[in-house]
Amino acid sequence: MANKNKNENKPKIVTVNLGISWLYLLIIAGIVWLLFSNSGTKPQKVEWAEVETMIRAGDVKDIVFVRNDFKGEISIRPDRLEKYAERFNGKVPNSSPHFWFYVSSKFDPENEFGRLNAELPEGSHFKVILENNDNMWGQILNWFLFPVLLILMWVFMFRGFNRNMGGGPGGQGGIFNVGKSTGKLADKNMVNVTFKDVAGLYGAKEEVMEIVDFLKNPKKYTSLGGKIPKGALLVGPPGTGKTLLAKAVAGEANVPFFSISGSDFVEMFVGVGASRVRDLFRQAKEKAPCIVFIDEIDAVGRARGKNVGFSSNDERENTLNQLLTEMDGFDTNSGVIILAATNRADILDKALLRAGRFDRQIHVDLPELKERCEIFKVHIKGLKLEPDFDVDFMAKHTPGFSGADIANVCNEAALTAARKNKTAIDRQDFLDAVDRIIGGLERKASIITPAEKRSIAHHEAGHATVSWLLPYANPLFKVTLIPRGQALGAAWYLPEERKLWTKAQMIDEMCSLIGGRVAEEIVNGEPSTGAQNDLERLTQMAYGMVKYYGMSEKVGTLSFYDSTGARGYDLTKPYSEKTSEIIDEEVKEIVKNIHDRTRAILEDHKEGFLKMAALLLEKEVIFAEDVEAILGPKVKPEEERDEVLDKQESEPETPADGAIPSEK
Ligand code: ATP
Repeated sequence: MANKNKNENKPKIVTVNLGISWLYLLIIAGIVWLLFSNSGTKPQKVEWAEVETMIRAGDVKDIVFVRNDFKGEISIRPDRLEKYAERFNGKVPNSSPHFWFYVSSKFDPENEFGRLNAELPEGSHFKVILENNDNMWGQILNWFLFPVLLILMWVFMFRGFNRNMGGGPGGQGGIFNVGKSTGKLADKNMVNVTFKDVAGLYGAKEEVMEIVDFLKNPKKYTSLGGKIPKGALLVGPPGTGKTLLAKAVAGEANVPFFSISGSDFVEMFVGVGASRVRDLFRQAKEKAPCIVFIDEIDAVGRARGKNVGFSSNDERENTLNQLLTEMDGFDTNSGVIILAATNRADILDKALLRAGRFDRQIHVDLPELKERCEIFKVHIKGLKLEPDFDVDFMAKHTPGFSGADIANVCNEAALTAARKNKTAIDRQDFLDAVDRIIGGLERKASIITPAEKRSIAHHEAGHATVSWLLPYANPLFKVTLIPRGQALGAAWYLPEERKLWTKAQMIDEMCSLIGGRVAEEIVNGEPSTGAQNDLERLTQMAYGMVKYYGMSEKVGTLSFYDSTGARGYDLTKPYSEKTSEIIDEEVKEIVKNIHDRTRAILEDHKEGFLKMAALLLEKEVIFAEDVEAILGPKVKPEEERDEVLDKQESEPETPADGAIPSEK
């Protein structure tokens, strides 16, 4: 308290930050003042004819004529000044010269002024002073001031521009730094991520572990004549932990870590990208041993010369060329290792991937069940959970989630629990978080008419019924009528983590996709727009079967898939018009068969699916066990049924293991 009073009694020093804008204001004010001061009495311009009249009237006292400027300045005799007062807004000027004039370059001052003086009577002659303009300071100012002003403006402009581009005072700011690398350097003590923070990713971790070893004990490899790899490319979907893995490599090896994004090289100025690459490598070499991490390398590393004629980007190609040269240029054993990450390795330039540059490609895939479990364990560390919280359950309910999604689920769950004023986070908060992340925010306020709601219930019940009755369709988890994000209702599945799809699996999946639409047709007698998203996916799958997977008899075992991305801008198709027609016919045929099959299933189980729709309208959310109560146990593929039977024969007492619990 005493302290506070002391501070209050102190005189306050008010500092006003004038800033650079005051300087601009002062300069502008000065220029305005110079322009407008003395405007009333400053010398007036006159034509040569008028000058002759003045001279002949005997009013001129003297004329100073500057030869090299072809300019003359006239002073009027004091006793004749009144005559010209009108020209000066009624004020008699008290300083000379009073008038000035220009003449042509052919003007001969000696002759002309001599002639005029000779015409005048004695006593009214005027004095002529002929001179050359050798005002050095004036000249220097003329030549110097303008360029200096231009340069100053340019510098200020770019400083502002560069600040906007992410530079700034003390950092990248200023035009002279535009070609400098914008990479961020984290010193070895600043990288505190280790392999412990990276859950799962066993294969990828093992591969990068080797890089850590190279950095820690280079002699072990070089003594045998081996060369340390220059770079590794981390490839995988977004959010799978590529950046995290690269940081962990730096943290484990205890070396500095440069991180830069591929798009940081791309600039609107020619040559800047290449110069930034040079600068990055120069800095890295100074700090060696170190790791340079280039995120989203596809921004610069896209294959060259593919898009000529559309948006050919020479600057990007120059940057890539520089990157290739730098990677070739540095000594293999210099201790700089380049790690790069991309989601699209297929579109990268082949030269970038060859041995000696990014020698290794490390695949960082979406985590599997066990890996998801571990990632959950990493991210729930700081959270207050219910004592019986089951991590395995959550891992099972998040198939297809990346590490970043899981981190997000954990955070969302904590926020949801806090919103409900809970003291610990429970399973339902996590499930709500998953719903929110997949489906978007609940739209409680959206107005849906009762007829629309009925139609949505039939649509979702259609999906659920078909998927329940087809062996290969994804297992259903729950069906809801709560609008979320763009969807008005949804059937939630727990997709199996398949790497391969058979034709039968694809067909079952497509039937369950079209189930909603067919249900609407059966109940309402006509379709609605609600199935657009389902139809879009169905069409993609049908074209995929015919064009890419060789699953159509008429088209044959051909694939027109372009994994290189080289045909991205090609307007011609790699097949004839006739084949194109056959493809279209085949797709229509597949979709028609799927439609008929689905209709038959729903007609056969009409009673069940109408009951399900009614239950859905009543409860808004129904779960797998509700569906089971109506339609009986889920139809399983034959192989699984056999497995279950075998197990039951050998251990008749224990229930089938690994069954996914359908929890509310
Ligand atoms: P992008 O391709 O979009 O750049 P990325 O693959 O580089 O994504 P990261 O930035 O490394 O993804 O991951 C984002 C976040 O996800 C991390 O900060 C971390 O919280 C979480 N995460 C991802 N994978 C894992 C993992 N294996 N273990 C723990 N956390 C993970």
